[in-house]
Parts: sequence; structure tokens; C-alpha cells
Amino acid sequence: MFDLNGHVGLVTGGNGGLGLAMAKGLVKAGAQVAIWGRNAEKNADAVAQLEAMGGTAAAFACDVTDDAAAKRAFAATLERFGTVHSCFANAGGAGVRGPFHELSRSDWSQTIDLNLQSVVTTFQLATRHWLERQQPGKLIVTSSLAAIVGLAGASGYSTTKAAVMGLVRALAIELGRANIQANAILPGFIETEMSLDTPKAFQDACRRRAASGQIGQLEDMEGIAVFLASQESRFMTGQCLILDGGHSIFPL
Ligand code: NAP
Repeated sequence: MFDLNGHVGLVTGGNGGLGLAMAKGLVKAGAQVAIWGRNAEKNADAVAQLEAMGGTAAAFACDVTDDAAAKRAFAATLERFGTVHSCFANAGGAGVRGPFHELSRSDWSQTIDLNLQSVVTTFQLATRHWLERQQPGKLIVTSSLAAIVGLAGASGYSTTKAAVMGLVRALAIELGRANIQANAILPGFIETEMSLDTPKAFQDACRRRAASGQIGQLEDMEGIAVFLASQESRFMTGQCLILDGGHSIFPL
């Protein structure tokens, strides 16, 4: 079970943080991995890490908010690997934070572009490829616990992370007959560059609310990525899977 030999996974934002962790999980299960990111140095370093594990990996420079760049990166990915079997739309970030009433239209557009439109663009590229070839596929997006738990000063982030939950539910139904599954992962606080860039009081509160008293580690992303990429998850679609160490069910 969970054997990904012969599988090609595409992970956007795969050069660091949660994306690289998921790429490592895929490689451990035997998959070849294409990673997309903007920073050439981080891209090269991530490929070196994946290859040092015995994996086959290639990085493609791409800003996922640029449709033309995503199209080029997808074409380059196909040229290198022939196809992709799973598509992890993981690239994203905090977007523009601040008091809701002070955020401009341009602030909102930036966050929507980064966390929602980029997912749509990436998923469309993979979906068209699978439908043209009449081959099955796996769409996976990294949402966030912030989609279902309120977070002050992060209205754009929460909104966009909730929007992708609607997207996977719609796609699960629309693409189910084509044997394409769509799911979202909602990580709670996992230790990364992005999450450590939050106030210490917030981090301490996340620790207190986790059942184990610990915040998540990057390795915690590996198994869920393998499961959602593998055929063993073929009956799971349209789901939004919370991975938060119990944060969201913390009792009063
Ligand atoms: P991170 O360590 O900052 O990594 C972000 C990744 O996305 C990097 O690989 C970055 O590479 C890439 N990226 C950012 N903007 C991009 C763009 N416009 N085009 C292409 N790549 C881009 O952050 P992370 O914590 O791993 O976050 C990854 C995802 O998990 C995000 O969607 C985030 O919202 C979500 N998430 C994180 C947590 C957490 O606790 N860490 C919790 C819930 C959800 P380049 O800089 O090279 O482009």
C-alpha cells in the first residue's frame, strides 16, 4: 500500500516549508517530484535534499500568481517527467495582513491572487492535462486551520483559505466521473519560516491548545501527502482534512 513508484507529484511551493516536507514524503514512497518556487537558490537546495534521499526531483522557477509562468512551468514539468499524477497547490502565504477596515482593494487582490487564483490556475493546468489524456488525477490544496478558526488581522488569509475548501468540493463532484479526486489539507500551526514569523504569544497559545502541548513538525505533513497522492485515497474526495494536533477541538 501507499507505493508511489512510477508516480510523478507536482508540488508548488515545494522548495521549503510544508511543500518540501510533502515532497519528501512523496519521494520516500517512491515518487518522482517536480517542485515549483520563485527562489532559484531554494529550488536548487530542495532538489539536492530530495536527491540526497535517493529521489528523483527537478525544480522549475515559477511565480504561481503569474498565469504565463505557471503555463511554462507546467509544460517544462511535462517535458521533464512526461506527466503528473498528483498536483499539490501548496504555494501561498499570509498575504496582506492588517485591520480589516484598513485593507485596500489592492491588498485584497494580492492575497486572493496568492492563495486562491494561483490554486485555480495550477489546478486548471493539471485538470486539462488529465482530461485530454483521459487519465486519473489527484488535486490537493494546502488550506489552513485559519479557514475555520477566526484569526484577527488575517481576514484575507482566512477568506482565501476557506474559498479553496469550496473549490475542492465543487471539483470533487465535477471531476469525480473522470476519476479525479480533489481534497484540501487544513494544517494547524506547523513550524516553518512563515509560521515562526508570528507573535510569540500566538505561538505559545497554539502550543497550549494542541493536545500534546507541541506544535506540528514538518514531518507531520509527509504521511497525509502520500495518502492523498496514492490510490489508497481513491474513495476520498471533496474532503477538508484538519491536521492540527487537536487545536480545533480544544475544550473550554
Ligand atoms: P513557507 O515556509 O514560507 O513556504 C512557502 C513556499 O511557497 C515556498 O516554497 C515559497 O517559495 C513558495 N511561494 C510563496 N509564494 C509563491 C509564489 N507567488 N509563487 C511560487 N511559489 C511561492 O510557508 P509554509 O508555512 O510552508 O506555507 C506553505 C503553505 O502552507 C501555504 O499555502 C500556507 O498558507 C499553508 N499553511 C501553513 C501553515 C504553517 O503553520 N506553516 C499552516 C496552515 C497552512 P519561493 O519563496 O521560492 O517562491
